Amino acid sequence: MGSMTEPPARRLLLVHAHPDDESINNGATMARYAAEGALVTLVTCTLGERGEVIPAELQHLTGPALGEYRLGELSAAMRELGVQDFRLLGGPGRYLDSGMMGLADNDDPACFWRADVDEAAARLVEVILEVRPQVLVTYDENGGYGHPDHIQAHRVAMRAADLAAEAGWTIPKIYWNRVPRSLGEQAFERLAEVLPGLPFDKPGVLDDVPGVVADERITTEIDGTAYAAAKAAAMAAHATQVTVAEPYFVLSNDLAQPVFTTEYYELVRGERALGARETDLFAGTEATS
Ligand SMILES: [Zn+2]
Repeated sequence: MGSMTEPPARRLLLVHAHPDDESINNGATMARYAAEGALVTLVTCTLGERGEVIPAELQHLTGPALGEYRLGELSAAMRELGVQDFRLLGGPGRYLDSGMMGLADNDDPACFWRADVDEAAARLVEVILEVRPQVLVTYDENGGYGHPDHIQAHRVAMRAADLAAEAGWTIPKIYWNRVPRSLGEQAFERLAEVLPGLPFDKPGVLDDVPGVVADERITTEIDGTAYAAAKAAAMAAHATQVTVAEPYFVLSNDLAQPVFTTEYYELVRGERALGARETDLFAGTEATS
């Protein structure tokens, strides 16, 4: 095969639950690696058909119509980040949004929460064997904050990594999305000060932010300053779910949160680069092809 058909040397795979999670958690990271020529592959597990819609003029969208609309938002967000390879696990609509924990929606056999983990993981294994990523990014075992689809995305991603290893591709590094507690606390203190000047009425709390852990657990930080505008634009593209007033945003609960342009990770599998926090998710993987 000639060089024109060779895939990019660095390949990053992200597994998320709903459209918008990728931009909120990893928008700057995705934009950076896409700009640097890495292959950035996003796998989203559901279309978020049960998401609450913010704009009044779009609140007629529910169910499959909302899912289709959110696929369009995801596509627009990926344009903002420069990411071309984004997929829905098993194809659009294969797994339905499960809604919040405890709701009857979670009993729907078609929802992602009820999906067989091995069966869903097998679909992700196909992607892993095709893309052969050196880095996988997903949530921790609590899905960052306890949403059933996020917990299930974690289970499916971790199971798929194991199954892919048995099938011939071991992903060298696996990371979970994180926010260091001290930084989160500072950000919400600042938010309280500037809130009167923002178009949002109420502040959120750090407990609303997924993946917050003690600072010591952070292994890696990606400085996204150069991609802050791309991240904000990608988040804004998910207008049914997110309203952005940089550097803050709200979800449908209308509680203001900071946009983190430096994004943080905990390496849970693989070799950590020597020294202080890593500043590159691919650190130490150069020899892997
Ligand atoms: Zn989500």
